[in-house]
Amino acid sequence: MHSIQTDIQLVKTKAALHKYLSLTTGLIALAFSVVNIYLQQYDIACLDTVLGTLNLYFFWSAKRTGLVKPWHINCLLLSITAIAFYTFSIVDLRAGTSYWLLILPPIYCIFSGPKKGLAYSVLVLIPIFYLFITKSDTENLFLYRSLLNFSGAYFLTYTICYLYEVQYIKNSNVLHHMAYKDSLTNARNRHALEIFFRESNNPGNSEAQQPQLLILDIDYFKKINDKFGHEIGDIILTELSQLIQKHTSKENVYRIGGEEFLITLKNTTPIEACDMAEILREAIEGHVFEVESNAIKITVSIGVSELKQGMSFNVFLRNADKNLYHAKNQGRNIVHHDELLAS
Ligand code: GH3
Ligand code: MG
Ligand code: MG
Repeated sequence: MHSIQTDIQLVKTKAALHKYLSLTTGLIALAFSVVNIYLQQYDIACLDTVLGTLNLYFFWSAKRTGLVKPWHINCLLLSITAIAFYTFSIVDLRAGTSYWLLILPPIYCIFSGPKKGLAYSVLVLIPIFYLFITKSDTENLFLYRSLLNFSGAYFLTYTICYLYEVQYIKNSNVLHHMAYKDSLTNARNRHALEIFFRESNNPGNSEAQQPQLLILDIDYFKKINDKFGHEIGDIILTELSQLIQKHTSKENVYRIGGEEFLITLKNTTPIEACDMAEILREAIEGHVFEVESNAIKITVSIGVSELKQGMSFNVFLRNADKNLYHAKNQGRNIVHHDELLAS
């Protein structure tokens, strides 16, 4: 349960940043709007009000739903760019409003990704240089130094953020892999199955058909371990996982216990699921696992069941296990589906 919490937090990091940046930007834009009304610059005040209200709406929407839509992000970036530019363009250069422009590269990098972020940062530098040159009322040397210092700091903030962001993406991928994948077989793990289960069980899920599930257990695997050793047993488990993935897909195979796998089949009828189970059973029976000059053959028993709406994870596993138990009881190396057999 703890690990689920952890990776949900991971996904939410940027959403939280977006949420509070929207709030801050919204409040700043509304404050600017009041200042501009006071200065009788009504057109700019109007723009500030629109940007402020929009950003407060993004904050409210993120708080309510926990979701951030792409247009919310684009609009936030535009608002921050507009506010920074506006502040820079109206005030005397010597007041130092150019410092505000330094927040742009990190924000572009975080929200648009390292590559797009760099493109936006370079693009935005053109009007910044233009404003610097047109607003400069001092001698050339000062302008030249200002531009040089500004560009140095501007790209350094980008570089720091870029390095951090690239590492963040790498770490996220590693954590994602650790959280969802079984380290031995590279199939998805039980935690990933719980998430799949929750999503399938979500009443808002538009998919009309509930997924079919195959629960697959190696027959007499203990004997294989006893005869050939645990290490060879591990290699067989890994190769079996690849064999199942070859016949279904990488995304649909979960290792849920020692020598037990679960395969999820979407948009499939119970009969098609049984056919798929039969194909798998035959493929595994016909496969020779060649490990360290041993030619090993195994068989599997498969229980087929449907994931019904409202079924809890534990109840589902209990039911699926019952089908598997029936398959084992009938002599192993067979496929069992309770309801199809009953009808
Ligand atoms: P059945 O046909 O009833 O399923 O018999 P079985 O021997 O496969 O089942 P049992 O539950 O008695 O034993 C499961 C065996 O699976 C026991 C254990 O040695 C082996 N096993 C479980 N996890 C691993 C693993 O990660 N690696 C290896 N090599 N073996 C494992
Ligand atoms: Mg077994
Ligand atoms: Mg078992």
